Amino acid sequence: MTTLRWGLIGASDIAATRIIPAMRRLGHQVAGVSSLTEKRAAEYAHQHHIPYATSDVDLLVARDDVDAVYISTINRLHCQHTLTAAAAGKHVLCEKPVAMNLTDAWAMVRACDAAAVVFGVNHHLPCAATHREIRRLVADGAVGQPLGVRVFHAVQLPERLATWRLTDPAAGGGVPLDITVHDAAVVNRLLRRPLEATALGVTQGPWDAVMDDAIMSVLRYEGNVLVQTHDAFTVRYAGTGLEVHGTEGSIVARDVMTQDPVGSVLLRNSGGERELAVPGRRDLYEVSLEEFARAVEEKTDPAVTGADGARALAVALAVQEAANSGRQIDIVTEPVTEA
Ligand code: NDP
Repeated sequence: MTTLRWGLIGASDIAATRIIPAMRRLGHQVAGVSSLTEKRAAEYAHQHHIPYATSDVDLLVARDDVDAVYISTINRLHCQHTLTAAAAGKHVLCEKPVAMNLTDAWAMVRACDAAAVVFGVNHHLPCAATHREIRRLVADGAVGQPLGVRVFHAVQLPERLATWRLTDPAAGGGVPLDITVHDAAVVNRLLRRPLEATALGVTQGPWDAVMDDAIMSVLRYEGNVLVQTHDAFTVRYAGTGLEVHGTEGSIVARDVMTQDPVGSVLLRNSGGERELAVPGRRDLYEVSLEEFARAVEEKTDPAVTGADGARALAVALAVQEAANSGRQIDIVTEPVTEA
């Protein structure tokens, strides 16, 4: 399997806790890191044994020992950093949400296509063995015609992450861009096109959040399939889950909207109910990185493409707009072509 030499754009928590360890377990190299300041870059590089540190993204992407970049800056910077990397001919694995708006998201897709570099979005959930099993069941008709999906993704935001996500709309904070976008990355692959969204959001946490920290949405997908989501930074004990209900059966998956390779998948139909074996459980981030490396080598698609990321963003933005406006919002998943 191909291993890559990575430049990390962003000295982030997610890189430190999940991505750098996964890269190293797979035998990839972390060649360098960029941060907002030289001091922070040097500290982070020292802490994580990274040989090169800079505050200048242009210098990082120009390096001969960087094949690909992993972008985990705040959401507002994803577009700028992707365009910089693509212009330097470097493959891009960008954190979710792919961008702050759809114009940027599709511009990123076009720029990476034009530069002939792989563009992946690090939505980890589609990489889970549980989700792969659920996709297989739905595609094989195990539930018949899907009628409704329920997503339970209300969690407690760890204290160390209670920063820009709660206080800085310009950085790309808020529950829809943080959590609902993950739900959409999962549900978009189970159903046909998302069409419209309604939502209610509130602020309920013990902090001075300037954005909603809890939101419930109702979506309609093509074929009149209804999807209901509960996403929050404020709920400690609910557990997560995904249910797909169809004409012939129901899938009830518990503890599957998580970062770890855990959770159960149960199928209930006229024959009763049984918990399914979920083969091939692996670290979700390793799968994302491995499929990205395969895409570079074999010129195939990564686990989640830039276009997949844009379509997930389209749902999250519609939910945000629905909650902000109190209106029902049409979801536009394809790029709008200029007249
Ligand atoms: P952190 O807050 O730990 O890191 C944010 C990075 O952005 C840092 O490098 C920081 O700079 C830089 N930055 C630039 N401008 C600002 C600013 N105005 N305020 C704060 N930081 C700034 O982020 P997370 O690790 O929590 O998240 C990073 C990205 O990863 C986000 O896009 C998030 O959505 C995504 N994510 C994905 C997950 C997944 O499972 N797929 C899970 C968690 C996050 P500096 O280095 O100077 O501090």
